[in-house]
Amino acid sequence: MSYRASDERYRIMTYRRSGNSGLKLPLISLGLWHNFGHVDLRSNYESLIFTAFDHGITHFDLANNYGPPPGSAESNFGQILNQHLRSYRDELIISTKAGFDMWEGPYGNWGSKKYLVSSLDQSLRRMKLDYVDIFYHHRPDPHTSLYETMNTLDLIVRQGKALYIGISNYSAEQAEEAFAILKTLGTPCLIHQPKYSMFERTPEKGLLDVLRNHGVGCIPFSPLAQGLLTDKYIDGIPKGSRAARAHFLKPEQITEDILIKIKRLNDMAWKRGNTLAQMAINWILRDERITSVLIGASKIKHITDAVEGLESSPLTQEELKLIDDILAD
Ligand code: NDP
Repeated sequence: MSYRASDERYRIMTYRRSGNSGLKLPLISLGLWHNFGHVDLRSNYESLIFTAFDHGITHFDLANNYGPPPGSAESNFGQILNQHLRSYRDELIISTKAGFDMWEGPYGNWGSKKYLVSSLDQSLRRMKLDYVDIFYHHRPDPHTSLYETMNTLDLIVRQGKALYIGISNYSAEQAEEAFAILKTLGTPCLIHQPKYSMFERTPEKGLLDVLRNHGVGCIPFSPLAQGLLTDKYIDGIPKGSRAARAHFLKPEQITEDILIKIKRLNDMAWKRGNTLAQMAINWILRDERITSVLIGASKIKHITDAVEGLESSPLTQEELKLIDDILAD
């Protein structure tokens, strides 16, 4: 059966401008790191993509290595896009990245021109796209000159293979250096993708100010600390959850200490009529330097819960203070 997007989609979502650019992104974007690989069930990930778009989530974030196996999230997304979403292509912001290990040999990793150009060509073939909306350098490369990497991002935009470029996992200092090079090349950086959540606040120590000062947007990844900032792990590790798979989120990360904080945050969220996931997302969005929050999902309700949470009243100064106290304890 062919898919038709909900007529309500643009009434539900709010969009924020990414830095000084002309591009607006939905307050919530969907990442395809987990749950969209060949090991996953197509009917499930297809419904996640449709549910997201039906709720005004126009932005889908990928990377060359998402799967498993690496590349399969792009292939699967490409199939769904071509089968069901072709007529909506101009309503979608599709991003991909390169920077982590992707293929054997010296040209399948990091930040050389050879790797980035080849990787994006592969991504475009897997997704059957002429261009992506955003292409990211996924992580800084200590062994390639930043000029080569930034020059390649500029080239990719000039070739029409990406409309905008972004960087991810760069520190405040590295980002500042990258923006300076990009400025001389004439291709501004659209957005930075850092890890940022109640449990990972490093971007507050300089990066967010650098982004604001340079007019660059910010889209934090793992806003729920991979599921820790939900009620999922309060009564143990459920079957099929990310911690049960124990690769990226290890059971030993769920310490007694962390569980106490999660329970206190969860109680606080319920008292204000939110789930913990909703409160954790709205906590990030309290800051206007943030453009969009990049969530992951394995179930439809993870997406609808996040979107419904946008309706709730903003966190007050007292509530923000209480969250700081819980996190500091
Ligand atoms: P989150 O922190 O949002 O974690 C998502 C996971 O949390 C889901 O898969 C699910 O876990 C659980 N979850 C989500 N909502 C709920 C809920 N309401 N109730 C209970 N559990 C819930 O983000 P991710 O870590 O998945 O990262 C999001 C995206 O960020 C990625 O897909 C990717 O696009 C990007 N990313 C980028 C990186 C980079 O280096 N640039 C690195 C990592 C991510 P479960 O699957 O166990 O059900």
